[in-house]
Amino acid sequence: MSNHVTTLRIDLNALHFNLNYFKSKVKSETKIMAVVKAFGYGSDAIAVAQFIQNKVSYFAVAYTHEGVSLREVGIKTPILVLHPQKENLVDLLSYDLEPNLYNRNILEEFVEIASHNKVTDYPVHIKFNTGLNRLGFSFEDIDYLRNELKESLALKVKSLFSHLAASEDLNEKEFTLDQIALFKKISTEFQHKFGFMPELHLCNTSGVLNYPEAHLDMVRVGIGLYGLTNEKNAGLVLKNVLSLKSIISQIHSLKKGESIGYNRGLIAKESMHIATIPIGHADGIPRILGNGKGFVHINGQKVQIVGNVCMDMIMVDISGIECKEGDSVVIFDSQESIEELATAADTISYEMLTAISQRVRRVLVS
Ligand SMILES: *Cc1c(COP(=O)(O)O)cnc(C)c1O
Repeated sequence: MSNHVTTLRIDLNALHFNLNYFKSKVKSETKIMAVVKAFGYGSDAIAVAQFIQNKVSYFAVAYTHEGVSLREVGIKTPILVLHPQKENLVDLLSYDLEPNLYNRNILEEFVEIASHNKVTDYPVHIKFNTGLNRLGFSFEDIDYLRNELKESLALKVKSLFSHLAASEDLNEKEFTLDQIALFKKISTEFQHKFGFMPELHLCNTSGVLNYPEAHLDMVRVGIGLYGLTNEKNAGLVLKNVLSLKSIISQIHSLKKGESIGYNRGLIAKESMHIATIPIGHADGIPRILGNGKGFVHINGQKVQIVGNVCMDMIMVDISGIECKEGDSVVIFDSQESIEELATAADTISYEMLTAISQRVRRVLVS
């Protein structure tokens, strides 16, 4: 339970709208895998998954324990674990989660565990590296895979997939088209060696929007569900899902020469009014947003963060702004305000959202 007055509002209807937008962008037979890793991009993975479990074909999480927490609340939808580790494979299997097998190490360990547990046709997903150079087998590994898997009754290769490195960057279009071509070549070779074709998937949010020819059998949509994209135009049609709000705890009147916060981050050049807000770097406001770089909105007006960001609080300059203690403070409530803050913090929306800590109270709206 959390009584923090700082809240992250999650608009599930907006999320549903966004899901339908991505459905409208792909063929009706193309499946949707909703990516709910990292607490659903900082939102609430369980609430999101419960809300859309019957509207998507798959969920994806990064780590096994993220999948376990969805199973523990009764989610039955297939769940792909994108980055399983050896030490989690027993749990992964017992919670009916489906592993990404991305190298020999993890594949051989899982074959052994699956055989030991006497499962048959356990669904697994093979990842190929086509240029991101993060996780995945290469084209040259297909013979190895065939030797390891062809005779195994324990495992069934449900899908082959890869991940695009720069699907949002149209200056890298040639590189992305090479990734798409290499993935097609890999899947053709796989089919040739195994005698069947698993499902294929390659696109994240920006891939869905920019490379319709690569939608294949399924698309993996993350950031777009939460209302954000790397494409300015698409951002306009999506609905905002996440709003971060707080209140004014206290107001101070400073005289010229008085200072604000730790290390006296700002010395007042003239008399000023400042408001203290219960959200700090432990809640997800990066420290880099201190000393005039970041801002929040109070009663419709943009006010600067002054002094250093504290662990639990920020102070903002409310000189000339009509407001009082207890008034509402908006940190962000639109895609534009999320992007603007992310830019001020020298980062991207993905990091801004996933940084919102578990201390912030989640409020669901539907
Ligand atoms: C996180 C992730 C996604 C989702 O990417 P978005 O850009 O948020 O849509 C898709 N695939 C993989 C492998 C990922 O790690």
